[in-house]
Amino acid sequence: MKEKKNINVFNLLKDNKLPTPPEIMDYLNQRVIGQDDVKKRLSVAIYNHYKRVLSNLTNINVGEELNEIEIDKSNIILNGPTGSGKTFIIKNIAKMLGVPCHIHDCTKLTQAGYVGEDVENILTGLLQECDYNIPKAEIGIVCLDEIDKIAIRGENMSLTRDVSGEGVQQSLLKIIEGDVVGVMPQGGRKHPEQELIPIDTSNILFIGMGAFVGLDKIVEERLNTYNNSQSIGFSMNYKNQVDELEEYEKSEDILDEVIPMDLKKFGLIPELIGRFPIITHTKKLTKEDMVKIIKEPKNSILKQYQKLFALDGKKLIFDDKCLEIIAETAITSETGARGIRGIMETILLDYMFDSVKHKHKEIKISEEYSKNKLNKLLKIKKAV
Ligand code: ADP
Repeated sequence: MKEKKNINVFNLLKDNKLPTPPEIMDYLNQRVIGQDDVKKRLSVAIYNHYKRVLSNLTNINVGEELNEIEIDKSNIILNGPTGSGKTFIIKNIAKMLGVPCHIHDCTKLTQAGYVGEDVENILTGLLQECDYNIPKAEIGIVCLDEIDKIAIRGENMSLTRDVSGEGVQQSLLKIIEGDVVGVMPQGGRKHPEQELIPIDTSNILFIGMGAFVGLDKIVEERLNTYNNSQSIGFSMNYKNQVDELEEYEKSEDILDEVIPMDLKKFGLIPELIGRFPIITHTKKLTKEDMVKIIKEPKNSILKQYQKLFALDGKKLIFDDKCLEIIAETAITSETGARGIRGIMETILLDYMFDSVKHKHKEIKISEEYSKNKLNKLLKIKKAV
């Protein structure tokens, strides 16, 4: 058993306390629209993770029988469509807790010895997020963005890289497995003469993120095979099987059914999958979600633009219908909520250019006006 450093983890967290799952959920509800399942799962996962960190670093008496028990780390795979809030949720959680959060694009990584980026640079990124405060970095969060893109090219995968996907995954193990890793303070390639910063990664939470395009098909295939073989084996129960199948088809969300085997089929190596016991996902945002995202969160995009106009002494008002058009445009551009800002920018450009000169105090954006402004964008989309 590792010797405890006896660090008071609470002192490293914001307000010197670990928020409970309902508190985390409540915080997220004020900022993140929809995605209730994943918000709940993550609230619990984060709470458990930091309790584990607390028990690893601090001597706490929970009774003779349990004192010696070591809690395994539960890293998380978070999949879901682009722009559905994956990064946003994690960043919000990190902000609430006051821990550093580094988002690293896995597509730039290469296995040791090849041209490209070493995995240790991920930890440099985390250090930079907290001004090289090592104890803070050691309880931080690392998002391995686009982890799906380092999958090994399988029979039915076409978009993943064919070179070194496996090698990169192997290299990632080195930092995920929980060890002391020598990190270059400024990133880049290791030089023998450079002094390295030792970082203990055993309490860092790793979150593998990506759109995992095609994972749903893998799950579907497995479930269909399973259901078929079941109905052959238990023909007496055929009616039950049909009912179950119907029930299953009704279930909207096939990604709820993902098991580690599906990730292996997708192209992740078992050693890596084994390090990510929690698998969860965000859902595609609906038009109603998008409209809410535009106007409801604490720091909503609409409120931000209203503030920009208010600084020029103008009141910006959007027609409800107009918000729907923005939502529809974001959905058709397949950028998720990420596209909203660009669309608003297109609509408001002329007013922002000239807002001071504009003679009315109120600037009302109508459905007609936004349609006109977006016409070009929609035409481009249609042409593609
Ligand atoms: P991804 O799922 O690709 O990681 P992001 O989390 O980066 O998507 O989302 C892009 C932006 O869209 C966020 O910064 C946020 O402003 C907005 N957004 C996405 N999903 C939501 C949501 N569910 N609620 C509120 N805002 C959201």
